[in-house]
Amino acid sequence: MTADILIRNARPFGGAPVDLVIRDGRFAVPGANRPTLEIDAGGQIALPGLVEAHTHLDKTLVGMDWFENRVGPTRNDRILADRKAKRELGIDARRQSARQAMQTLKYGVLHIRSHVDVDTEIGIANIEGVIATREALRDLVDIQIVAFPQSGMLPRAGTLELMDDAMRAGADIVGGIDPASIERDPVRHLDAIFALSQRHGKPLDIHLHELADLGAFCLELIVERTRALSMQGRVTVSHGYCLGMLEPNRQRALIEALAAERIAVMTVGSPSAPALPLRLMRECGLIVCSGSDGIQGTWEPWGNGDMLERAKYLAQRNGMTNDADLTETARICTFGGAEAIGLDGYGFTEGDFGDLVLVPAQTLAQAVALTPQARTVIRRGRVLARDGILSGDLLHVA
Ligand SMILES: [Zn+2]
Repeated sequence: MTADILIRNARPFGGAPVDLVIRDGRFAVPGANRPTLEIDAGGQIALPGLVEAHTHLDKTLVGMDWFENRVGPTRNDRILADRKAKRELGIDARRQSARQAMQTLKYGVLHIRSHVDVDTEIGIANIEGVIATREALRDLVDIQIVAFPQSGMLPRAGTLELMDDAMRAGADIVGGIDPASIERDPVRHLDAIFALSQRHGKPLDIHLHELADLGAFCLELIVERTRALSMQGRVTVSHGYCLGMLEPNRQRALIEALAAERIAVMTVGSPSAPALPLRLMRECGLIVCSGSDGIQGTWEPWGNGDMLERAKYLAQRNGMTNDADLTETARICTFGGAEAIGLDGYGFTEGDFGDLVLVPAQTLAQAVALTPQARTVIRRGRVLARDGILSGDLLHVA
């Protein structure tokens, strides 16, 4: 347990200035105790920990030599390049996952959901590597691991059994992938992953890139299964590009159906896919979260994992410029993510975990627009970074 700390003059989520007290790792009412540490936030914006709700920690090349990307344009080109890179570049899932998690810690990313590859070449080695990182860094950042059949599950015999192994080894969530275009059999794929999720009592998170009607059909199948199995609040659809491509009545009906089953939708604001109707999604009460997807890997060369910058991308991708919209994209990268990935004790209420990120900005909208880097990051009352610089004892962690 950590000692009491007092943060003066901070503005939670851009609201009125308050003094925050953290006692035994949780927000508490100010008491008679003299705090052992006092931080004057000087009116900075306080965010609860940023939530990275979708990344691929096992595949980042952060800290490795530059990868000359000669990969073709299709998803299959990328999947093949990805498997080849794993063999030839010696991407160590344990080392790389720790590097990315430590890189994003200084931005204030305190919760990460990572899809981690399971396939018939590597088996569950990447799962084991990221589990090792999850345990090694457990006092710094929460990591959730999705067993993810990146190379396909039904077409590659033995993958479903490996997914089962991954869950038994300690993965937290069952993953899925394009049930029609990659799996060629949406009903069988979805039945298999829902059954796996039921067997292990774990949530589901499904990559769904499928477009227009095909994607909508797969979403309907996901809604039906979520309802039939009473899995409300335990299913996430990642990407869901089709939601940006339907005629208005069908679009609204599908979003309302997802919201009714509390199925969360994760969007990265991809520049190469249709933008999702964020305003309508919000209006219908859909749980929306965001993530970086792969950063600095063979899929994309860029990305730094800063979820405040992601809030800016989301706004840009949706043509949003007003302050209220920027505040909402910040919400997606904080409270939306927390709800989607099922975090308890998230926020600034007494009893919530004493996690916060101080961002030097006048308003939350300005924080999203300018993404200041000089952030102070506190987790469970422990100061992990001051003004953008990781604490000295953390510099050699990864
Ligand atoms: Zn992904």
